[in-house]
Amino acid sequence: MRDWMRSVPTMIVRGKGPYLFDIHGKKYLDGNSSIWTNIHGHRHPHLDRALQKQIRKLAHCSSLGLANEPASILARELIDRTPKSLKKVFYSDDGSTAIEAALKMVHQAHVHRKEKRGAFLGLEDGYHGDTIGAMSVGGSRGFHGVYKELMFRTEKVPAPYCYRCPYNRAKPQRADARTYAKCNLECVSLLEKKFKKARRPFAGAVIEPLIQGAAGMIAHPKGYLKRFAALCRAHGVPLIADEVMTGFGRTGTLFACEQEKVSPDLMCLAKGLTGGYMPLAATLTSQKIFDAFLGDYAERKTFFHGHSYSGNPLGCAVAMASLETFDREKTLKRVSRRGAELETMLQAFWENPHVGDVRRVGLVAGVELVRDWKTRKAYDWKERVGGRVCEEAKKWGVLTRPIGNVIVIMPPLCVTKEQLQMICDVLRKSVRRVCGG
Ligand SMILES: *Cc1c(COP(=O)(O)O)cnc(C)c1O
Repeated sequence: MRDWMRSVPTMIVRGKGPYLFDIHGKKYLDGNSSIWTNIHGHRHPHLDRALQKQIRKLAHCSSLGLANEPASILARELIDRTPKSLKKVFYSDDGSTAIEAALKMVHQAHVHRKEKRGAFLGLEDGYHGDTIGAMSVGGSRGFHGVYKELMFRTEKVPAPYCYRCPYNRAKPQRADARTYAKCNLECVSLLEKKFKKARRPFAGAVIEPLIQGAAGMIAHPKGYLKRFAALCRAHGVPLIADEVMTGFGRTGTLFACEQEKVSPDLMCLAKGLTGGYMPLAATLTSQKIFDAFLGDYAERKTFFHGHSYSGNPLGCAVAMASLETFDREKTLKRVSRRGAELETMLQAFWENPHVGDVRRVGLVAGVELVRDWKTRKAYDWKERVGGRVCEEAKKWGVLTRPIGNVIVIMPPLCVTKEQLQMICDVLRKSVRRVCGG
């Protein structure tokens, strides 16, 4: 807080496409999509219009005992576009609340069915939000260590983090660690063991499919998600896919689960749901979970969870416009082209000996900075290397935030090849200025 109090904040006043403008008129490329929320760019005409149209009808009404038009239309659309297992939509406000609702729903469904269950299972270093339940199933020691007395007990397995995996016997190379790892997929055997050893089936299992965002852009080895899902299925454990970051085209498909043909029992959506316009979240569930709540008034099977702004009509209207934009602009096709271009651009990072790993899924990439690539020796966190690189990049007109010493590249999906090149060039220059090399 002392650093913040001493600093002069950058006051953002305006946006256009992938750009943000500060109060002095300085232009920045929004290299992390305003913390992973923005999808089609700022001030997109179709999204702007949808909001204007809706606000002339209704800004908000409660979802307690009422339906509203945009929320119902959007729910139908979400069910049509997500894996077939998902049949019902529950609205809240943010990623954390989408997770919170999923955990409570799964727990309560077990209670209603009189099933005795164990704890929830999650990945070490997982990040699912900052509320108590989301923190509990996450494993972010850095962010959440101080709150550990407040959290409930969960089970954890190591994240499949090839670059720093203790079972990876390969010497570091100048390539994405997933491509040259030497191991027996111990991440999967540990997971199998965890399921087998559990005295009771887990209450549920939470995973960010394909790539863990706030854990440091940990891209999983191919097939991990599919095996995780298969184990859940075999043991009757509800699978909760946290697609808060990976959803809405970031990984190349509309949802990351599609890439390994996984049909989760619950899916949490937020961040990109409204194209980055409004806070809105959704927890999607299977018919089976939904049915566990069907009862007469006296049975007390109500899901006692509701937020004042659940199903906000403005948020739902703009979310619908964002989904339409995927069709109108063939956004996913462009992401696939841009992703391939980004892959080529990322190669230039290897020239710097302080780059230890570069990993990309779709239009999401992480560049892990290290003191020495030959030993994978990390920088001390107190050196704040990632933060300093991003401060340098800001001077050159590129905004992004690091996760520790991992630099995040996650532009809005409307980014052009030239803009993407500029993001990479500025970040490479900034790494050189801060780390040398
Ligand atoms: C950001 C994030 C959350 C939390 O979402 P908020 O809207 O910030 O509460 C949960 N899960 C993942 C994977 C996220 O990236």
